[in-house]
Amino acid sequence: VAWADESGARALRPVEARGRFGAGPVIVCHAALSARRLDLAAPPRSPELLDALELFAFVRPARFAAPSPAGLALALGLPEPRGAAAQAETLRAACAALLEEVAERPTPSREEALAQAETLGRAGWGWAQRVLGALRSEPEGRPWRGAGLDVWSRLPEWEDEAPEGRPGSQSVAGGDARDRLASCWCARAWTRRGPPRPNTPRRRRTHSRPRAREGEPRMVLAEAGTGVGKTLGYLAPASLWAERNGGTVWVSTYTRALQRQIERESHAVYPDPETRRTKAVVRKGRENYLCLLNYQEAVQAAQLGGGDLIGTVLVARWLRATRDGDMTGGDFPAWLPTLFSVGPAAQAGPGNLNDRRGECVHAACTHYRTASWSAPCAPRIRPSW
Ligand code: SF4
Repeated sequence: VAWADESGARALRPVEARGRFGAGPVIVCHAALSARRLDLAAPPRSPELLDALELFAFVRPARFAAPSPAGLALALGLPEPRGAAAQAETLRAACAALLEEVAERPTPSREEALAQAETLGRAGWGWAQRVLGALRSEPEGRPWRGAGLDVWSRLPEWEDEAPEGRPGSQSVAGGDARDRLASCWCARAWTRRGPPRPNTPRRRRTHSRPRAREGEPRMVLAEAGTGVGKTLGYLAPASLWAERNGGTVWVSTYTRALQRQIERESHAVYPDPETRRTKAVVRKGRENYLCLLNYQEAVQAAQLGGGDLIGTVLVARWLRATRDGDMTGGDFPAWLPTLFSVGPAAQAGPGNLNDRRGECVHAACTHYRTASWSAPCAPRIRPSW
């Protein structure tokens, strides 16, 4: 355990660290985990205990950071700290960088961030005064009315569209598929900072051609070792086929881990993040996505003192930035509901906010047309490979 202040960083004995934990304003990284390391129970939220991860969730909603000082450093482009003392120093630097960032570039707007920070201040969030000071360091627009929690009123509505026509039937020649695979392979090596291996697509050439039988689907059963590029091997020709025929390719997987892997490989097919955002979409079961109706109920309960108001505001921040509303393995930070001791019924996390019990009321719901990603509106985001 280490401690850092203006005079520098130094190691602390556990007994000393226990005394300082929660006794005065102290910055930690993952309060519950830090407490467990000191043989203490997970602490409740307190204005004296400032978790750097909560500040990250406010300033950079829906962005990834591993829940550790090193993870924060990497997410913020700071040097990776080695050793406890360096990690303690880094934590201070990371928080300073985050406060600077929120002062310069608050998202989605300074006014909305201010309204939410004021709500957090009323709820006793330790970071509130520092965040408010940072936000007010630059000129602000017209002040917001409200707590900034009614995010559903600011999400775009979807419109009914005519069904898409049938895709074309142009085939993809082997040479074209290999060329696409080669360019994807180079992009993949580039993004992974590995050495480009220009010969690899040649070595992975398909050696069998599926037979065409009347009335039967064409199928290939393929098996190869991990890491040889199987996924890219089918994503490359599939993306080419979709481009030529104006169609959609669905890739069905057995596990979420495989989904994540395929999503990662799609970075090689669509290196530009904006293009990828519209071309490669992950779909899961409805229970993975936040239900706005559940969220609205959680907001009302939290405002009446029956829930975790701070957690609810941080989820509001995430909701305005999320790519697809996926709370289990998407861009929602899984560590967020676990930082402090909050009762399971009050937690602002997937257990209470997702549609877990099939309670979705579909078109009878006032939010049915609001969130394009919210189930059952989920199919409205169409991948267009
Ligand atoms: S449509 Fe269903 S999933 Fe979406 S917000 Fe309403 S109840 Fe929840």
